[in-house]
Amino acid sequence: MKLSHIEHIGIAVKNLNEAIAYYENVLGLKCYAIEEVADQKVKTAFFMVGQTKIELLEATDPEGSIGKFIEKRGEGIHHIAFAVDNLPSALTELEEKSIQLIDKQPRKGAEGLNIAFLHPKSTKGVLTELCEDPVKK
Ligand code: ZN
Repeated sequence: MKLSHIEHIGIAVKNLNEAIAYYENVLGLKCYAIEEVADQKVKTAFFMVGQTKIELLEATDPEGSIGKFIEKRGEGIHHIAFAVDNLPSALTELEEKSIQLIDKQPRKGAEGLNIAFLHPKSTKGVLTELCEDPVKK
């Protein structure tokens, strides 16, 4: 498996608009996209820092995974996402190494990326996402 860079860092927030104001007014970044991902029950906002994105995640349903995360642990870093050049073969390799996969097959994430999550039990406590850009940049 070949990881090229940190694609994004996912950060759970209680209030997307307040968080956007912080990233824009304090850190001086510019929100370039807001997207609702209905099947993950989240609304996301994206910022670019170099080639890495910050993905803010606000729950649209308290019973969704971000809603439960905030309830249990409060706001903070939720996951780290690496860019990988071949996601299906990376998942096969990880399974061979007995890494617990949340997604055994790639699925569609925000921004049209193919994504898959690895279980934090197998990744030293960090919810890990792998992303493959179907349109290579
Ligand atoms: Zn993500």
